[in-house]
Amino acid sequence: MSYDAPLQEVDAEIAGLIRQEELRQHEKMRLIPSENYAYPAVMEACGSVLNNKYSEGYAGRRYYEGQQSIDAIEVLAIERLKSLFGCEHANVQPYSGSPANLAVYLAFCKPGDTVLGLSLDSGGHLTHGHKVAISGKYFHAVQYGVRKDDHRIDFDQVAALAREHRPTLLFCGGTAYPRVVDFARFAEIAREVGAVLVADIAHISGLVAGGVHPSPVGLAEVVTSTTHKTFRGPRGGMILCDDKHRKAIDRAVFPGLQGGPHNGTTAGIAVAAKLAATEEFRAYAESIVRNAKALAEGLLARGIALVSGGTDNHLLLCDLTPKGVPGKVAAKALDAAGIVCNYNAIPYDPRPPMNPSGIRIGTPALTARGMGEAEMTQLASWMADVIDAPEDAALRERIAGEVRALCNQFPAPGIQP
Ligand SMILES: *Cc1c(COP(=O)(O)O)cnc(C)c1O
Repeated sequence: MSYDAPLQEVDAEIAGLIRQEELRQHEKMRLIPSENYAYPAVMEACGSVLNNKYSEGYAGRRYYEGQQSIDAIEVLAIERLKSLFGCEHANVQPYSGSPANLAVYLAFCKPGDTVLGLSLDSGGHLTHGHKVAISGKYFHAVQYGVRKDDHRIDFDQVAALAREHRPTLLFCGGTAYPRVVDFARFAEIAREVGAVLVADIAHISGLVAGGVHPSPVGLAEVVTSTTHKTFRGPRGGMILCDDKHRKAIDRAVFPGLQGGPHNGTTAGIAVAAKLAATEEFRAYAESIVRNAKALAEGLLARGIALVSGGTDNHLLLCDLTPKGVPGKVAAKALDAAGIVCNYNAIPYDPRPPMNPSGIRIGTPALTARGMGEAEMTQLASWMADVIDAPEDAALRERIAGEVRALCNQFPAPGIQP
């Protein structure tokens, strides 16, 4: 076999599985709110010869020669992010969202220091101090939550915990919080107790760039994000910060935490940042939120409860308690009907994490296909039908066919059906 042969010849097994995944991404309605369709141009940048280059260090200060193109690419990515988000500095080297957050811990904390973050069951992320993660094991992590009655962040609790524990870092942002994050309130509390406020906008960076969610820049001294969720870039991470933290952040990422940056990813981030600055992207971001609201309305009308009663952003957390259907059962039945989501705990969930009361859904991927409010209304009705009869195999089969027909009308970016 030739080393130059295409994938199909070299490894038909892997090629076949990729093709199968491509088909799945074409013919199913993908509702996992952290997922999306990266732009074809981003995919092209990622799968390029940039993979072959080592570039430890930063532009102009590398440990290997041959960085003529790489330096230019990284500078472009940084400059575009600075102009897009209006921040003073950007680091584009974190391998993903979790390493971006870990770099922030390394930049500001010693092991055992106190950090304050949103708990996982209230919609926070593992990297914000959960006990099974390094953030909860190596640091003294204190967690705040949402209120029981309205599922909004309990700022009285945040302020009380901040005053009591005087954290080094205060994390805000989450993975399952369907409402606007009030960065100004967090900034006030952080200022009062001398904490560095870290806004993790992994889920919403595309919404912030598109102007449909307030920006934390200027309020949080450090902003972290993934680049592959609503931002539609490659799988990667970024850290935006004030100039005064530039050195600490850059040193923490390299040499503190990582080795060579993934240069294809850096190029992909540059491409995504360029596209996120367009009018089309603003329209995309607006449409994500409009679609989420339409989906919320459709589900509520069919008796599906929503955590916090609705959504301000791209995601919804459905509470299936009134339906008497566990989240896992619903998620599996929906998947069989061509509607892909994940089961998820709801705040104060009486059920165990591996079999919780809710499902988490979101509109970024469907919106990227060009679907709109009419399709969301249809989707809500399909979802409710399945949730009302999760054991009905014939129903699932019929809806899967209808979902496929709808998906055929809305080709997914970069996928030839
Ligand atoms: C997705 C996410 C991360 C982690 O990103 P990975 O790329 O999966 O490591 C961190 N924080 C938040 C809030 C997230 O939603």
